[in-house]
Amino acid sequence: MGSGVPPYKETGIITVEELKRLGLMPPEERLARGPVAIPECPEEIPCNICVVSCPQHAISIEGIKGLPRIDWDKCVGCGVCVAKCPGLAIFVVDLSKPGEYAYVTVPHEFLPAPKVGDVVDLLSREGKVVGKGEVVKAWETNKTWVVTVRVPKELAMEVRGIWVRK
Ligand code: SF4
Ligand code: SF4
Repeated sequence: MGSGVPPYKETGIITVEELKRLGLMPPEERLARGPVAIPECPEEIPCNICVVSCPQHAISIEGIKGLPRIDWDKCVGCGVCVAKCPGLAIFVVDLSKPGEYAYVTVPHEFLPAPKVGDVVDLLSREGKVVGKGEVVKAWETNKTWVVTVRVPKELAMEVRGIWVRK
């Protein structure tokens, strides 16, 4: 207690509470409006690939090692930064659709390649299977797949990976 070390530094796994504390989580009203990127990148590292990759110029980083800041109003949830981030640390979440499902877009670098219509295992940040979801979109660039899965809304902030069983 009282060491001041954030829990993710010990576990390697960021929590939603920590993302909120660091200002990396979009506000609820933005999440309800449409797909938006969430940079789960809490370490101050000299990287700005997301900044230069965003076609909307929605991402900025202060100085050489600041955290990525997304202008939530400029972000259109396209997923380009998801494909480009070398840390596989950016996700897109869409909580705007009525009904019981949300849409989560994750980077994926394992085989077999995902296909639209596949029902895949949904993985948490810890890599635990938390449910099943259907792939609704999948595209690949430079060996990274950008995969959008339909998930129960209550798992939208939990699902951060998939596992394609064949
Ligand atoms: S999802 Fe698209 S618009 Fe949003 S920050 Fe990433 S690259 Fe930019
Ligand atoms: S590209 Fe990824 S690792 Fe690099 S600053 Fe952006 S979110 Fe962080």
